[in-house]
Amino acid sequence: MAGGTGLVVDARMLQHHPGAGHPERPDRLRVLLDRFDHAPGLVRLGARPATEDEIARVHAPALVELVASTAGRPHAVFDPDTRASAGSWDAARLAAGGLIELCDAVLDGQVHNGMAMVRPPGHHAEYDRAMGFCLFNNVAIAAAHLRVRGIARVAIIDWDLHHGNGTQHLFAHDPSVLYVSTHQFPFYPGTGAAEEVGEGRGAGYTLNLPFPAGFGDAEFARAFDELVRPVLRQFRPEFVLVSAGFDCDLRDPLGALETTPGGIAAMAAACLRSAEETAGGRIAAVLEGGYDLAAIVDGVDTVLDVFRGRGDLPPLVTGNPRRLDRLATRVRVVQSPFWHL
Ligand code: ZN
Repeated sequence: MAGGTGLVVDARMLQHHPGAGHPERPDRLRVLLDRFDHAPGLVRLGARPATEDEIARVHAPALVELVASTAGRPHAVFDPDTRASAGSWDAARLAAGGLIELCDAVLDGQVHNGMAMVRPPGHHAEYDRAMGFCLFNNVAIAAAHLRVRGIARVAIIDWDLHHGNGTQHLFAHDPSVLYVSTHQFPFYPGTGAAEEVGEGRGAGYTLNLPFPAGFGDAEFARAFDELVRPVLRQFRPEFVLVSAGFDCDLRDPLGALETTPGGIAAMAAACLRSAEETAGGRIAAVLEGGYDLAAIVDGVDTVLDVFRGRGDLPPLVTGNPRRLDRLATRVRVVQSPFWHL
């Protein structure tokens, strides 16, 4: 079947158990499988394990070995937040490989676009360190794969509540991968100030939008219109990846940003339009965080609606666009050597 929106669905990623009471729990994926496994109008794609070589494009071989060594062991601890169980090595390889499968399906024309529902999430994982519930950096592994497949410029848009420190660091020196993040700031993991713009040849290829607690739909929508889309238009990505976390939702128990499905729809639509302008519509979203089960289901539903071109999108409900004024001015100054904003 050619065309349509792809959805990576694979129950084997339920087998990662970071511990009793941990917010990144199997139920996050279970509710998505319940809601979308049989939903009409989507092209289902299975995951496959990423190979060690694919993972090692962005991670230290020692980290790959360390995670592999947890296979079959009931408990392993990377840091107080980040733990593995017997099935975590398999789940982590499926999470990275599932997104690679989706990217290949988009590149090869099997689907137009899509979403990978995976866990564990990825954007906090650093070159040589699992952290922040993340074992391997799924979106970074996919970006490296796209580069190997001949894509010259990849944009990663990360609207998870938290800053994607791992993704930023992995490509800080690389002008072929643009990293854009909206996130609550100051907050975990501490990185993501507006002044972090990339380094060396990668200077200007990182765009950070640190949001104070309380920002909602209107601030996100305005930031995407006035800052994210113009940078994307000038960068001209050939493929757009979205680190789609839904912990920015008002209902999330860990964070204090206040999006509703209207804000998610505005961001997804902005990313899709940018992909249509320069990337032939090639866009793939991957699940990052999000710890309120209803908010995750609503978020994935909204992204899939946007990607499928469904008409009536939910309205912006929360926030006040004027509250973006000060940050927008600061970001324009910081980014002025690199982009016309
Ligand atoms: Zn998060």
